Amino acid sequence: MLMDMGVVEPVKRTLDSKFKFGCHNDISCFNSCCSRTSIILTPYDIVRIKNRLGISSGDFLEKYTYTYIDEGNSHPYAVLKVMDDNKGGCPFVTPEGCSIYEDRPSNCRYYPVGQGLMIMGGEEGPVNEEFYFFIRDPNCLGYQEGREWTIESWRINQGADIYDEMTREWMEIQLRRGASGEPKLDEKKQAMLYMASYDLDKFKRFIFESKFLDLLEIDKVEVEKIKTDEIALMKFGFKYLKYILMLEETLKVKEESLPSQR
Ligand code: SF4
Ligand code: SF4
Repeated sequence: MLMDMGVVEPVKRTLDSKFKFGCHNDISCFNSCCSRTSIILTPYDIVRIKNRLGISSGDFLEKYTYTYIDEGNSHPYAVLKVMDDNKGGCPFVTPEGCSIYEDRPSNCRYYPVGQGLMIMGGEEGPVNEEFYFFIRDPNCLGYQEGREWTIESWRINQGADIYDEMTREWMEIQLRRGASGEPKLDEKKQAMLYMASYDLDKFKRFIFESKFLDLLEIDKVEVEKIKTDEIALMKFGFKYLKYILMLEETLKVKEESLPSQR
Protein backbone atom coordinates (compact mmCIF):
# COMPACT_ATOMS: atom_id res chain seq x y z
CA MET A 1 0.00 0.00 0.00
CA LEU A 2 1.28 3.51 -0.72
CA MET A 3 0.73 4.46 2.84
CA ASP A 4 -0.17 7.62 4.68
CA MET A 5 2.76 7.41 7.10
CA GLY A 6 0.84 9.55 9.58
CA VAL A 7 -1.31 6.54 10.44
CA VAL A 8 1.48 3.98 10.70
CA GLU A 9 2.33 3.11 14.29
CA PRO A 10 6.14 3.37 14.51
CA VAL A 11 6.58 0.10 16.44
CA LYS A 12 7.90 -3.08 14.87
CA ARG A 13 5.69 -6.08 15.59
CA THR A 14 6.11 -9.83 15.24
CA LEU A 15 3.69 -12.64 14.33
CA ASP A 16 2.98 -13.09 18.08
CA SER A 17 1.85 -9.47 18.57
CA LYS A 18 -1.74 -9.21 19.74
CA PHE A 19 -4.51 -6.82 18.79
CA LYS A 20 -8.27 -6.64 18.98
CA PHE A 21 -10.11 -6.10 15.73
CA GLY A 22 -13.42 -6.68 13.99
CA CYS A 23 -14.75 -5.56 10.63
CA HIS A 24 -18.27 -6.21 9.34
CA ASN A 25 -20.79 -4.59 7.05
CA ASP A 26 -22.81 -3.02 9.91
CA ILE A 27 -19.90 -0.95 11.16
CA SER A 28 -20.34 2.78 10.51
CA CYS A 29 -16.96 3.10 8.77
CA PHE A 30 -17.80 0.21 6.38
CA ASN A 31 -16.03 0.64 3.03
CA SER A 32 -14.31 3.88 4.08
CA CYS A 33 -10.87 2.21 3.92
CA CYS A 34 -11.58 1.13 0.31
CA SER A 35 -12.51 4.67 -0.68
CA ARG A 36 -9.18 6.30 0.11
CA THR A 37 -6.47 3.94 -0.78
CA SER A 38 -3.56 3.28 -3.14
CA ILE A 39 -2.66 -0.36 -3.19
CA ILE A 40 0.61 -1.66 -4.63
CA LEU A 41 -0.07 -5.02 -6.25
CA THR A 42 2.08 -8.13 -6.21
CA PRO A 43 2.39 -10.59 -9.13
CA TYR A 44 0.14 -13.10 -7.36
CA ASP A 45 -2.50 -10.41 -6.64
CA ILE A 46 -2.72 -9.85 -10.38
CA VAL A 47 -2.96 -13.55 -11.26
CA ARG A 48 -5.89 -13.91 -8.85
CA ILE A 49 -7.77 -10.78 -9.84
CA LYS A 50 -7.38 -10.99 -13.63
CA ASN A 51 -8.52 -14.64 -13.56
CA ARG A 52 -11.51 -13.70 -11.46
CA LEU A 53 -12.40 -10.96 -13.95
CA GLY A 54 -11.68 -13.29 -16.89
CA ILE A 55 -9.40 -10.80 -18.65
CA SER A 56 -5.76 -10.80 -19.76
CA SER A 57 -3.02 -9.40 -17.55
CA GLY A 58 -2.45 -6.64 -20.13
CA ASP A 59 -6.12 -5.60 -20.09
CA PHE A 60 -6.20 -5.70 -16.31
CA LEU A 61 -3.09 -3.53 -16.01
CA GLU A 62 -4.37 -1.02 -18.53
CA LYS A 63 -7.84 -0.68 -17.09
CA TYR A 64 -7.24 -0.91 -13.36
CA THR A 65 -3.69 0.19 -12.57
CA TYR A 66 -1.12 2.90 -12.98
CA THR A 67 2.66 2.59 -12.69
CA TYR A 68 4.54 3.99 -9.75
CA ILE A 69 8.35 4.18 -9.93
CA ASP A 70 10.04 3.82 -6.56
CA GLU A 71 12.61 6.57 -6.07
CA GLY A 72 14.94 4.28 -4.10
CA ASN A 73 15.38 1.16 -6.24
CA SER A 74 13.83 2.65 -9.45
CA HIS A 75 11.55 -0.40 -9.78
CA PRO A 76 8.14 0.05 -11.41
CA TYR A 77 5.12 -1.10 -9.41
CA ALA A 78 1.50 -1.59 -10.47
CA VAL A 79 -0.87 0.35 -8.23
CA LEU A 80 -4.66 -0.01 -8.23
CA LYS A 81 -6.15 3.00 -9.94
CA VAL A 82 -8.53 5.23 -8.07
CA MET A 83 -11.72 5.49 -10.13
CA ASP A 84 -13.01 8.96 -11.07
CA ASP A 85 -16.56 7.65 -11.18
CA ASN A 86 -16.34 6.05 -7.76
CA LYS A 87 -15.74 8.96 -5.36
CA GLY A 88 -12.01 8.40 -5.64
CA GLY A 89 -12.25 4.84 -4.37
CA CYS A 90 -10.92 1.43 -5.32
CA PRO A 91 -12.40 0.17 -8.61
CA PHE A 92 -13.78 -2.89 -6.83
CA VAL A 93 -15.63 -1.29 -3.96
CA THR A 94 -19.44 -1.48 -4.09
CA PRO A 95 -22.08 -0.45 -1.52
CA GLU A 96 -22.18 -4.12 -0.44
CA GLY A 97 -18.41 -4.29 0.03
CA CYS A 98 -15.52 -5.67 -2.02
CA SER A 99 -16.72 -7.16 -5.31
CA ILE A 100 -13.59 -9.34 -5.58
CA TYR A 101 -13.45 -10.29 -1.89
CA GLU A 102 -12.25 -13.90 -2.33
CA ASP A 103 -9.44 -12.64 -4.59
CA ARG A 104 -8.68 -9.32 -2.89
CA PRO A 105 -5.01 -8.28 -2.81
CA SER A 106 -2.63 -9.22 -0.04
CA ASN A 107 -2.53 -5.66 1.34
CA CYS A 108 -6.32 -5.68 1.79
CA ARG A 109 -6.16 -9.04 3.55
CA TYR A 110 -3.53 -7.87 6.04
CA TYR A 111 -5.23 -4.56 6.89
CA PRO A 112 -5.03 -3.12 9.60
CA VAL A 113 -1.64 -4.81 9.72
CA GLY A 114 1.16 -3.72 7.42
CA GLN A 115 4.16 -5.88 6.61
CA GLY A 116 7.77 -5.14 5.79
CA LEU A 117 10.94 -7.02 4.98
CA MET A 118 14.51 -6.05 5.70
CA ILE A 119 17.95 -7.54 5.26
CA MET A 120 19.93 -8.03 8.48
CA GLY A 121 23.62 -8.83 8.78
CA GLY A 122 24.04 -12.33 10.23
CA GLU A 123 27.14 -14.33 11.20
CA GLU A 124 26.70 -16.47 8.10
CA GLY A 125 25.77 -13.63 5.78
CA PRO A 126 22.68 -11.50 5.27
CA VAL A 127 19.32 -12.84 6.46
CA ASN A 128 15.85 -11.58 5.66
CA GLU A 129 13.69 -10.44 8.53
CA GLU A 130 9.96 -9.97 8.15
CA PHE A 131 8.29 -7.48 10.42
CA TYR A 132 4.82 -6.07 10.89
CA PHE A 133 3.21 -2.85 12.10
CA PHE A 134 -0.28 -1.61 12.88
CA ILE A 135 -2.05 0.99 10.78
CA ARG A 136 -3.94 3.18 13.23
CA ASP A 137 -6.25 5.13 10.96
CA PRO A 138 -8.60 7.10 13.23
CA ASN A 139 -11.41 6.57 10.68
CA CYS A 140 -11.18 2.80 11.13
CA LEU A 141 -13.40 1.74 14.02
CA GLY A 142 -12.43 -1.92 13.83
CA TYR A 143 -10.00 -1.67 16.76
CA GLN A 144 -12.98 -0.97 19.01
CA GLU A 145 -14.71 -4.23 18.09
CA GLY A 146 -14.21 -7.92 17.59
CA ARG A 147 -12.00 -10.52 19.13
CA GLU A 148 -8.36 -10.75 19.97
CA TRP A 149 -5.94 -11.90 17.29
CA THR A 150 -2.25 -12.43 16.92
CA ILE A 151 -0.85 -11.18 13.62
CA GLU A 152 -0.27 -14.85 12.74
CA SER A 153 -3.87 -15.90 13.42
CA TRP A 154 -5.13 -12.81 11.53
CA ARG A 155 -3.07 -13.50 8.42
CA ILE A 156 -4.20 -17.14 8.34
CA ASN A 157 -7.84 -16.14 8.92
CA GLN A 158 -7.61 -13.68 6.02
CA GLY A 159 -5.80 -16.09 3.70
CA ALA A 160 -2.77 -13.79 3.51
CA ASP A 161 -0.35 -16.62 4.38
CA ILE A 162 -0.81 -18.17 0.91
CA TYR A 163 -0.09 -14.79 -0.69
CA ASP A 164 3.11 -14.51 1.37
CA GLU A 165 4.27 -17.92 0.18
CA MET A 166 3.58 -16.97 -3.43
CA THR A 167 5.40 -13.65 -3.43
CA ARG A 168 8.12 -13.85 -0.76
CA GLU A 169 10.77 -14.43 -3.45
CA TRP A 170 9.53 -11.42 -5.43
CA MET A 171 9.58 -9.21 -2.32
CA GLU A 172 13.15 -10.29 -1.61
CA ILE A 173 14.17 -9.30 -5.14
CA GLN A 174 12.77 -5.80 -4.58
CA LEU A 175 14.62 -5.50 -1.32
CA ARG A 176 17.94 -6.95 -2.41
CA ARG A 177 18.43 -4.47 -5.23
CA GLY A 178 17.32 -1.58 -3.04
CA ALA A 179 19.68 -2.61 -0.24
CA SER A 180 22.71 -3.14 -2.44
CA GLY A 181 22.76 0.50 -3.55
CA GLU A 182 22.91 -0.55 -7.18
CA PRO A 183 22.55 1.99 -9.98
CA LYS A 184 19.08 2.95 -11.15
CA LEU A 185 17.50 0.80 -13.84
CA ASP A 186 17.22 2.11 -17.37
CA GLU A 187 13.83 2.14 -19.12
CA LYS A 188 14.48 -1.14 -20.93
CA LYS A 189 15.21 -3.01 -17.67
CA GLN A 190 12.25 -1.35 -15.99
CA ALA A 191 10.01 -2.58 -18.81
CA MET A 192 11.38 -6.15 -18.49
CA LEU A 193 10.94 -6.08 -14.75
CA TYR A 194 7.36 -4.84 -15.10
CA MET A 195 6.51 -7.47 -17.72
CA ALA A 196 7.97 -10.43 -15.79
CA SER A 197 6.37 -9.25 -12.54
CA TYR A 198 2.94 -8.27 -13.72
CA ASP A 199 2.10 -8.90 -17.35
CA LEU A 200 2.33 -12.68 -17.42
CA ASP A 201 0.46 -13.09 -20.71
CA LYS A 202 2.98 -10.81 -22.42
CA PHE A 203 5.88 -12.53 -20.62
CA LYS A 204 4.64 -15.89 -21.92
CA ARG A 205 4.54 -14.56 -25.48
CA PHE A 206 8.04 -13.18 -24.98
CA ILE A 207 9.30 -16.63 -23.92
CA PHE A 208 7.60 -18.63 -26.66
CA GLU A 209 7.45 -16.18 -29.56
CA SER A 210 10.93 -14.62 -29.46
CA LYS A 211 14.44 -16.11 -29.57
CA PHE A 212 14.38 -16.51 -25.78
CA LEU A 213 14.42 -20.33 -25.80
CA ASP A 214 17.11 -20.40 -28.50
CA LEU A 215 19.41 -18.23 -26.40
CA LEU A 216 18.96 -19.60 -22.89
CA GLU A 217 19.38 -23.08 -21.49
CA ILE A 218 16.13 -24.01 -19.81
CA ASP A 219 15.11 -27.44 -18.67
CA LYS A 220 12.56 -29.00 -21.06
CA VAL A 221 10.28 -30.06 -18.19
CA GLU A 222 10.21 -26.48 -16.92
CA VAL A 223 9.45 -25.17 -20.41
CA GLU A 224 6.47 -27.55 -20.69
CA LYS A 225 5.25 -26.55 -17.25
CA ILE A 226 5.28 -22.82 -17.87
CA LYS A 227 3.24 -23.38 -21.04
CA THR A 228 0.21 -24.43 -19.00
CA ASP A 229 0.79 -23.53 -15.35
CA GLU A 230 0.48 -19.82 -14.56
CA ILE A 231 2.03 -20.11 -11.11
CA ALA A 232 5.05 -21.90 -12.60
CA LEU A 233 5.25 -19.07 -15.17
CA MET A 234 5.11 -16.46 -12.39
CA LYS A 235 7.89 -18.26 -10.47
CA PHE A 236 9.97 -18.58 -13.61
CA GLY A 237 9.52 -14.80 -13.89
CA PHE A 238 11.20 -14.39 -10.49
CA LYS A 239 14.12 -16.50 -11.72
CA TYR A 240 14.36 -14.36 -14.83
CA LEU A 241 14.29 -11.17 -12.73
CA LYS A 242 17.20 -12.36 -10.60
CA TYR A 243 19.11 -13.02 -13.81
CA ILE A 244 18.45 -9.71 -15.56
CA LEU A 245 18.99 -7.73 -12.37
CA MET A 246 22.28 -9.61 -11.91
CA LEU A 247 21.38 -10.81 -8.44
CA GLU A 248 22.00 -14.50 -9.19
CA GLU A 249 23.10 -16.66 -12.15
CA THR A 250 19.71 -18.32 -12.30
CA LEU A 251 19.82 -18.79 -16.08
CA LYS A 252 22.57 -19.74 -18.49
CA VAL A 253 23.20 -18.65 -22.06
CA LYS A 254 23.55 -21.63 -24.44
CA GLU A 255 27.14 -22.33 -25.51
CA GLU A 256 26.25 -22.00 -29.18
CA SER A 257 24.74 -18.56 -28.56
CA LEU A 258 27.91 -17.16 -27.03
CA PRO A 259 30.08 -15.06 -29.35
CA SER A 260 32.89 -17.22 -30.77
CA GLN A 261 36.41 -16.47 -29.44
CA ARG A 262 39.24 -16.16 -31.94
S1 SF4 B 1 -9.73 -4.67 -3.54
FE1 SF4 B 1 -11.57 -4.90 -2.28
S2 SF4 B 1 -10.81 -4.84 -0.17
FE2 SF4 B 1 -9.21 -4.01 -1.45
S3 SF4 B 1 -9.50 -1.79 -1.45
FE3 SF4 B 1 -10.58 -2.62 -3.23
S4 SF4 B 1 -12.68 -2.98 -2.55
FE4 SF4 B 1 -11.40 -2.74 -0.71
S1 SF4 C 1 -13.42 -1.35 10.36
FE1 SF4 C 1 -11.60 -0.53 9.34
S2 SF4 C 1 -11.15 -2.15 7.86
FE2 SF4 C 1 -13.29 -2.43 8.47
S3 SF4 C 1 -14.52 -1.23 7.02
FE3 SF4 C 1 -14.09 0.10 8.77
S4 SF4 C 1 -12.26 1.22 8.08
FE4 SF4 C 1 -12.39 -0.59 6.81
